[in-house]
Amino acid sequence: MSTHSINVDERLRDYMLDVSLREHPVMRALRDETADHAHAGMQISPEQGQFMQMLVRMLGAKTCIEVGTFTGYSALAVALALPDGGRLVACDISEEFTKIGKPFWEKAGVADKIDLRIAPATESLDAMIAAGETGSYDFAFIDADKPGYPDYFERCLKLLRPGGVIAVDNIFMGGSAADPETESANAQAMRKFNAALKDDTRVEISLIPIGDGLTLARKV
Ligand code: CA
Repeated sequence: MSTHSINVDERLRDYMLDVSLREHPVMRALRDETADHAHAGMQISPEQGQFMQMLVRMLGAKTCIEVGTFTGYSALAVALALPDGGRLVACDISEEFTKIGKPFWEKAGVADKIDLRIAPATESLDAMIAAGETGSYDFAFIDADKPGYPDYFERCLKLLRPGGVIAVDNIFMGGSAADPETESANAQAMRKFNAALKDDTRVEISLIPIGDGLTLARKV
């Protein structure tokens, strides 16, 4: 029973949420608001949000990066876990999606902690590097277009301090990453990214089978 990660079926997941989920009411409200969205599947699960809040607090993180904000649920989770004066740079290309989250950030009292930058993330991250912010961030979350992951990862790694952590989402790509028959661009991109990360000695890694698979990469 304990030599493998358990298969979390619906019943077990309900139980997991029942005994462990402590979701901020505004996070719940934003999740409800996003539930009917055509791209609702792009939102992280509430248990993953709570896990990321735990990470942020365990790291004592004050400065964070997010690549891929969508309607702002993960940004809200991270911002709520940040101390006073903490800051999250949230990168996304969609004004339309991110504006859904903004009123919820306001309502939760964390809007001043979230610095939203609407532009291709590589441009925003390059601007941060050019501004001398290399080595100064504690935590980064990458959850955007999969072929772009290597570009985002390299930049986030530069911006992180030693001991800082990058959390990379959709490692399993809905299971297709492990299915060689699936030739979609996303599945191929994740396979390539995962294989490269396995041998990347600049980081220590651990793959957490939460949501669609979340790899933690800690900068050595
Ligand atoms: Ca995702």
